[in-house]
Amino acid sequence: MIDLNNLTIKKAHQAMKAGEYSCLDLTGAYLNEIEKKNPKLNAYLEVFTESALKEAKIADKKFKEGTATLLTGIPIAVKDNILIKGKIASAGSKILENYKATYDATVVKKLKKEKAVFLGRTNLDEFAMGASTENSAFGVTKNPHDIERVSGGSSGGSAAAVAANLCLAALGSDTAGSIRQPSSFCGVVGLKPTYGAVSRYGLIALGSSLDCIGPIVKNVRDAEIIQEAIKGWDKSDSTSLREVKSQKLKIEKSKFTVGVPNIRLTDGQIKSETLKNLEEAIEKLKSLGYKVKSIELPNLRYAVPAYYIILPAEASANLARYDGVKYGLREKGENLMETYFKTRGRGFGPEVRRRIFIGTYVLSAGYLDAYYNKANAVRDLIKKDFEKAFEEVDLILTPTTAGPAFKIGEKSADPVQMYLEDIFTVPANHTGLPAISIPYGQAEEMPLGIQFIASHQNESLLFKVSKDFLGEKD
Ligand code: GLN
Repeated sequence: MIDLNNLTIKKAHQAMKAGEYSCLDLTGAYLNEIEKKNPKLNAYLEVFTESALKEAKIADKKFKEGTATLLTGIPIAVKDNILIKGKIASAGSKILENYKATYDATVVKKLKKEKAVFLGRTNLDEFAMGASTENSAFGVTKNPHDIERVSGGSSGGSAAAVAANLCLAALGSDTAGSIRQPSSFCGVVGLKPTYGAVSRYGLIALGSSLDCIGPIVKNVRDAEIIQEAIKGWDKSDSTSLREVKSQKLKIEKSKFTVGVPNIRLTDGQIKSETLKNLEEAIEKLKSLGYKVKSIELPNLRYAVPAYYIILPAEASANLARYDGVKYGLREKGENLMETYFKTRGRGFGPEVRRRIFIGTYVLSAGYLDAYYNKANAVRDLIKKDFEKAFEEVDLILTPTTAGPAFKIGEKSADPVQMYLEDIFTVPANHTGLPAISIPYGQAEEMPLGIQFIASHQNESLLFKVSKDFLGEKD
């Protein structure tokens, strides 16, 4: 029996290298777990049993030849808005229910090169709009720690799969917190890289100026391994970063200053257990030798409102392509206009429709300045706040979420309550900064997470401090 509970990428690699078990054994072990637990959790929308076993055999050959890399034979899950050639990519939507990807996303191509094993595609809120997977057209993903609670979202399927040992690592996407919030709810590690550090080519677009692909994993080292493998400039993504700045100098400083924003700003939205947990994290940082400093981010309170103007604007433009002609579902009408109405009316769920309405409204001629342009101006102010903060501190600490995973149905009737879930995570998307959620503490017998945000392209600092904080050895 392979101890999946305590497995990490490095441990699995070493065991396969030493011949303790094969990639096929490992893949088989995960497929067994999936068969047992997925019907209850609904983390996967589809399991690629046949192709995964084939890939595992190829990976075993690489071990025999001595050409295996760290990710060879590692069973991973992919959020169902990231394209894998020949597989369905539904984005959790009826409109793409039977859409088959015609090419690999760059991240998938990179992992295929390493001969990772693709176990299946995981559930998400429709088009990644949501914070609970309750907006998926294919059912909610339950939290493995308590199946009456949500797994978070939108990458809830990926986070639940990692937490329940239904894969060793997973990919998610993060536009306002969709990697970090479900990671926090499920007690795992989630990294949102610097905007542009990882190619978005082959990610079904939500908000193009905010979207990032990143890992959801068991520990910080695994996040680093996946991030190393998937990052890099890509000619197919014009926003991908050409150069990765070296942050060596900073890393060698032995102790860092961590800034903690004044979160009274959130006006009582935050649970007392979360605040207590943050205090404990601060004390722990101090005992490890870090300096902790209180910082002001005066425009933080506008981060959520600005996002819910910018995102719908970008999403409404990105979703215009689902018209019953080019992709996916087609509900034929008497004429072209009727085909559009029928297809989009039936194919999109309520949250997606709501955002298309808002997005179209804020972009319309008379309202552009009042809403969209104003929200972008606010975004610039938030960026400046962070730039200023990083003149004084090396890293920023916040809770990842206001509280632990909530009950299924608790927030689904009130979109604004759901939007407030993004309060701590969305600033890193507005600013393009890298941020990580690591498990720390508990409330209501559920995991809690804390978040570190670093300066631009400073992922290595996130890894270093997170490992130090968790006492994780390399
Ligand atoms: N809660 C955010 C939203 O609903 C999450 C988006 C994301 O990160 N994909 O838009």
